[in-house]
Amino acid sequence: ESVVNKIAAGEVVQRPFNALKELLENSIDAGSTKVSVTVRDGGNTMIRVQDDGCGIHEGDLPLLCERHATSKLETFEDLRTVQTLGFRGEALCSVSYVAHLTVTTMREGDAHATRTVFRDSKIEDGPKPCAGLVGTTVTVEDLFYNMPIRRKALRSPSEELAKVIEVVGRYAVYHDGVGVSLKRHGNARPDVSTSASDTKQQKIRMVFGSQVGSNLLEFKASAVPDECDGEGMSFQAKGYASSANYNSGKRTVLVLFINGRLVECSPLKRCLETVYASVLAKGSRPFFYVELTIPHEQVDVNVHPTKKEVNFLHQDDLIERLREAVENAVFTSND
Ligand code: ADP
Ligand code: MG
Repeated sequence: ESVVNKIAAGEVVQRPFNALKELLENSIDAGSTKVSVTVRDGGNTMIRVQDDGCGIHEGDLPLLCERHATSKLETFEDLRTVQTLGFRGEALCSVSYVAHLTVTTMREGDAHATRTVFRDSKIEDGPKPCAGLVGTTVTVEDLFYNMPIRRKALRSPSEELAKVIEVVGRYAVYHDGVGVSLKRHGNARPDVSTSASDTKQQKIRMVFGSQVGSNLLEFKASAVPDECDGEGMSFQAKGYASSANYNSGKRTVLVLFINGRLVECSPLKRCLETVYASVLAKGSRPFFYVELTIPHEQVDVNVHPTKKEVNFLHQDDLIERLREAVENAVFTSND
């Protein structure tokens, strides 16, 4: 059974950034205003996420890594609506099968923090009292220590680090009211650093550079479902477009969050790109940042934590509406 669990866990967590994404979301779900990430070797040997959120009740620790142990489902009905946010109650469980997992946590009013080490979904050591502040620190060490083939398949630290910086930067932009930092172990200077009070534009500038940041055009679009059947297209979107691109304009960049999840949508990217086709010099590529909210039941429920391309209902119509919104923003700004 443990082998099966290990293999399943290795599917959920394939690279350091997959685990990191889950830990970041947990910290944000815990109501944190400050989340500090530290990685060593691009996350291959260590990922640490420290937050100032609500902490974890000591009584919940023994079950923390049991599969489907989640504090986020109140009723069975919820299961349907949260599905698109990822596999509920699987993240910490999966991590505990493929890495050394340590959780230090303290809640408001607790006399001290506690430190607990998990292995294969169970407590291996602790909870032991220790010094700490209100919040939670999750440390993931030696990813795939017990799966030599997977460990060998990990990319180089610099390649993993690039992906980690990308993911942390994008989440930092998305989440309002949370300051996020990313540091390499032993480095004083952070690779990502936003504060809770930054505006979206400030965060985009911090993460994607001043070229992108100083050229931002805001756009919005939305649709309400048809009153008669309620089945029609329904969405809310807002975003920013920039003619300048931070990767020296070599590729179009679309940063897309659907219902809070960082995903990819190639058809949307290709369509938005066309808006700039006549405006930009040949070969230069625009930048887009889009936050999209769609009813959960209209997004492909088959989404796997590691799957990035999404499908959703009314996709073509919705893409066209976003294109129009970007076009309006671009042409209004040129008048
Ligand atoms: P899920 O997030 O889907 O509930 P996880 O395996 O990611 O499943 O986490 C399991 C549970 O552990 C969460 O429901 C939450 O109660 C608790 N938890 C995890 N990380 C944190 C954190 N940083 N702060 C507070 N609680 C946390
Ligand atoms: Mg989670």
